[in-house]
Amino acid sequence: MIEKVLVANRGEIALRVMKTCKALGIKTVAVYSDEDRNSLHVKNATEAFHIGEAAPAKSYLNQEKILDVILSSGADAIHPGYGFLSENSDFAELCEKNKINFIGPSGKSMDLCGDKMRCKAAMLEAKVPTVPGSPGLVKDENDAEKIANDIGYPVMLKSVYGGGGRGIRIVTNDKELREGFESVTGESIAAVGKSAILVEKFLEKTRHIEYQFARDTHGNAVHIFERECSIQRRNQKLIEQTPSPIMDEETRARVGELVVNAAHAVGYTNLGTAEFLRADNGEFYFIEINARLQVEHPITEFVSGLDLVKLQLDIANGEPIPFKQSELKMNGYAIECRINAEDTFLDFAPSTGPVPIVTIPSGPGVRCDTYLYSGATVSPFYDSLMAKLITWGQTFDESRLRMLNALDDFYIQGVETSIPLYKTILNSEEYKNGQLSTDFLKRFEMIERLEKDLVQDRKDKQIPAIASALMHSEFYKSKIQSQNSANQNWKNKMDGV
Ligand code: ADP
Ligand code: ADP
Ligand code: MG
Repeated sequence: MIEKVLVANRGEIALRVMKTCKALGIKTVAVYSDEDRNSLHVKNATEAFHIGEAAPAKSYLNQEKILDVILSSGADAIHPGYGFLSENSDFAELCEKNKINFIGPSGKSMDLCGDKMRCKAAMLEAKVPTVPGSPGLVKDENDAEKIANDIGYPVMLKSVYGGGGRGIRIVTNDKELREGFESVTGESIAAVGKSAILVEKFLEKTRHIEYQFARDTHGNAVHIFERECSIQRRNQKLIEQTPSPIMDEETRARVGELVVNAAHAVGYTNLGTAEFLRADNGEFYFIEINARLQVEHPITEFVSGLDLVKLQLDIANGEPIPFKQSELKMNGYAIECRINAEDTFLDFAPSTGPVPIVTIPSGPGVRCDTYLYSGATVSPFYDSLMAKLITWGQTFDESRLRMLNALDDFYIQGVETSIPLYKTILNSEEYKNGQLSTDFLKRFEMIERLEKDLVQDRKDKQIPAIASALMHSEFYKSKIQSQNSANQNWKNKMDGV
């Protein structure tokens, strides 16, 4: 039985994992970088170990150092959270070799899930439909061009090792394809040190619908319903909800069965997510498996009543899943907003620094997973997710209105946030009507609407309405430029360049 867990992560997800451990009487070990000395996850853990400099390559990605801490702290299991080492199959294997319980799938299964091409092949064998595209990896630009012309533009170039919206590009003609090929290769090499590209048909007006699933070491598997994550920017999720407004019982069960087959097909153990695109014609196409706990897992917790981290621990302990598919019921509606530290009007550039005052929303059906406190710092070294705001309601509208109230109550002094944008989205008729698609922001001109809302807001508050003019001024443009070069510097630092 797991008695002490090292949490190889930081921020809100490290805290989230520790919360369940604490409730179960399991001891926790935190690791932290120079930058995170004063972070909540360090204070929250039973023990904490410093593992290096701020740049992830020198701390949270340092496998040997983390292994050292596991061994010297006497932890018997490791929870990787999401990002960092969570989908690194070499690390999972390193843990296996050292007889440390890695809370996630085996290195072998993770390796298969992490390779979009091999995973798609496994899905086809299991009769799970995938997005039409190249039958294998493309050899070079010429090969890619030939396949793109066969399946017809627009197509998507994807690095099989990509993730988090990186290493993918839409291209609409041969010229763009050649440029795209080069940039996807570069991005993938920068992120993971290698690149291999596949070509997929670009599906227009699609919805991103994913399924939570679990499979235990005895071969039992269940799905824990869908999450709709269509509100995205540059292929990165911003708002998620469950149930999806386009799902009905029959479809939920039918696609759920495919998901269970998918979990068996890749020999998966523990919790995972199968991502699909739902085309306008109602067809579901598998895109990938995320072999870890997902950022948006709390909405599934709200509607299922489960503690998904507890389920992860149970499965890692070798226990069978303690319920049957037929015993799972979906209750109510949940929404999650990812509260990012970024400036919507500076092309979503990271906004970092100290946050002297923070007020965290609460109330019936409101949950906030965050590392923030008054006096915390938002670091430029890590991703911009500061908090996840999650609401539940008996009806969709109750959940939506609770979210709007909670967004109003969330005050974060010192950095720009995505909160104003979310208010505009949640107030829009299109969102209320469930007209969701992955191009929602562009399609319904949400940024432009936000601009108007803010100008109106300022007018209401008797502040001169210069905001809109300012946003298009030379001053702002130069600010964007300097911010972009600052971001590049941070990125280089993060990559340890
Ligand atoms: P989810 O559906 O759980 O949000 P994402 O794909 O957005 O999944 O990834 C979750 C987190 O993992 C992101 O916030 C990001 O920090 C990290 N991440 C995922 N893939 C990569 C990658 N290739 N490079 C760097 N970070 C990544
Ligand atoms: P990542 O590993 O970065 O999460 P995914 O393959 O899951 O990459 O794709 C991320 C997002 O990109 C999807 O949610 C969707 O919005 C978009 N996308 C991916 N593949 C396609 C496609 N073939 N057609 C249209 N959009 C796509
Ligand atoms: Mg994905």
